[in-house]
Amino acid sequence: MDVSDHGGPAAAIVLAAGSGRRLGGVSKAFLPLAGRPLLDRALAAVLTPAEIATAVVVAPPARLDDARAVAAPYPKVTAVIAGGAERQDSVAAGLGVTGEADWVLVHDAARPLASPALVRRVLLAARETGAATAGLAARDTIKVASAGTVTETLERGSIWLTQTPQAFRRPLLLEAHARAAARGLRATDDAALVEAMGGAVRVVEGETTNLKITTAEDLAIAEALLRGGAPEDRRTGLGYDAHRLVPGRPLRLGGVAIPYERGLIGHSDADAVLHAIIDGLLGAAGLPDIGQQFPPEDPAFAGADSRDLLARAVERVRAGGFVPLAADVVIVAEAPRLAAHLPAMRRAIAEGLAVPEGAVGLKATTTDGLGAIGRGEGIAAQAVVTIRRQR
Ligand code: MG
Repeated sequence: MDVSDHGGPAAAIVLAAGSGRRLGGVSKAFLPLAGRPLLDRALAAVLTPAEIATAVVVAPPARLDDARAVAAPYPKVTAVIAGGAERQDSVAAGLGVTGEADWVLVHDAARPLASPALVRRVLLAARETGAATAGLAARDTIKVASAGTVTETLERGSIWLTQTPQAFRRPLLLEAHARAAARGLRATDDAALVEAMGGAVRVVEGETTNLKITTAEDLAIAEALLRGGAPEDRRTGLGYDAHRLVPGRPLRLGGVAIPYERGLIGHSDADAVLHAIIDGLLGAAGLPDIGQQFPPEDPAFAGADSRDLLARAVERVRAGGFVPLAADVVIVAEAPRLAAHLPAMRRAIAEGLAVPEGAVGLKATTTDGLGAIGRGEGIAAQAVVTIRRQR
């Protein structure tokens, strides 16, 4: 079919009247998404295709001035009107001012990430059949449940998750709304009203990024998408370790040998700093702690270099799908003075975690003489380690 035969002007109806019940009852079209209201982003997408000649914004009665302000930079917006009690009423109100348009495209401001290309695809598909909707082929198996128990599993191959934009020959949608009003039929989208009168609705492959902002989590996901990536799965773990200082042992802290008349005693090299980091790392990944990963009774770890234990811990975290992102460490020691050794420790820790040195915080403190550590009987360390899921 020659699309040009069915050209003629198209008007967009952009719905901004939703109340955002799951977002605290705000008018969600005016919520900022990375600094711009949802409505602004939706208008930018819908009004980009040349085929869309005009648009009407349907807003909550109390937010008309705000809607006009958002729409001001868009010369294609010819009207900003008040919506009705429900979405269907708002679309009907919008239809009433789409004037001479032969085609109408309905879009929700709550879908601010629809692309102009999708808007155009839906409009062109409608021009072939009279009606079209964006939709996503279901990827998950869909079940029907009642009171928490599955009553039916649907045939996934025929399931589409409906999005907007949707586009229609204007007289067709006018008639669908009129018939629905006469019959008291309510639907959550306009395509359903056309279907109810036996009209054919073409499904156009939508976009997974064209998500509907319903909850605060959706907003966070949309912001992450705008940043250029999926939301990052980050986790943080806490580690603590302490060992006793005794004569005749080399002192190793943070993977570095430190000249001192005493050293820490333990089954391995007793590097309390690396042990705290290892436990923070394992904790972040939800793995068993250092004592269970490298049991003191296992002779394989007698005198072990803790840098090797750290390497193994990193390996186990990686096997779980995570990589280290950052660490912050505090060493608690009355003596020796550690300031001069901190840069070397920081390098060794960064190397062990395979993160930039800038991602490692390291400092030393005393307890001002308080307690066993303050009496110089041992050295303790605390670490928080953040990891992120590998993409
Ligand atoms: Mg230890």
